[in-house]
Amino acid sequence: MKKVFHFDAPRERYTCDAAVVWCFDHRFNNGFTEFLQKKGVEFPDPIKIAGGAKSLASPENEAEREFVLEQIRKSIRLHQTKRVILKVHSDCGAYGGLEAFGNDCALEAKHHEQELRRAADFLRKTIPGIDVHAYYVDFSGVWEVELGPSVSS
Ligand SMILES: [Zn+2]
Repeated sequence: MKKVFHFDAPRERYTCDAAVVWCFDHRFNNGFTEFLQKKGVEFPDPIKIAGGAKSLASPENEAEREFVLEQIRKSIRLHQTKRVILKVHSDCGAYGGLEAFGNDCALEAKHHEQELRRAADFLRKTIPGIDVHAYYVDFSGVWEVELGPSVSS
């Protein structure tokens, strides 16, 4: 190998502020990153996959859900993560875009809120004690889903 670029990365290990399950759609990257910083998430473990929290709410197959779950578990194991942030967004290709909702933004938002609730329920059941936050992001900003207290079985 030959070195093609130089930088100084911090060598200290970090404690993760939140594992973030979000879509790789770049349109929302800057806005949501800014939001995370505002929330005090300085050291996220980003889990960026097409559809984001869809993988937990309505995965195409069980392997997809398992994979994301394992990524979260690894974040917990390696970086003492206590919080998971779930995100889905408007006009997401994994859901067929806004067209899949007849270009009805309100209908899309309602659907995605349900998706986030499904993903959060699943996560809370599967990883008891985990702190879950869920956000819908559209072209104007970030919307929080009020999840209420975790119901432990
Ligand atoms: Zn997307």
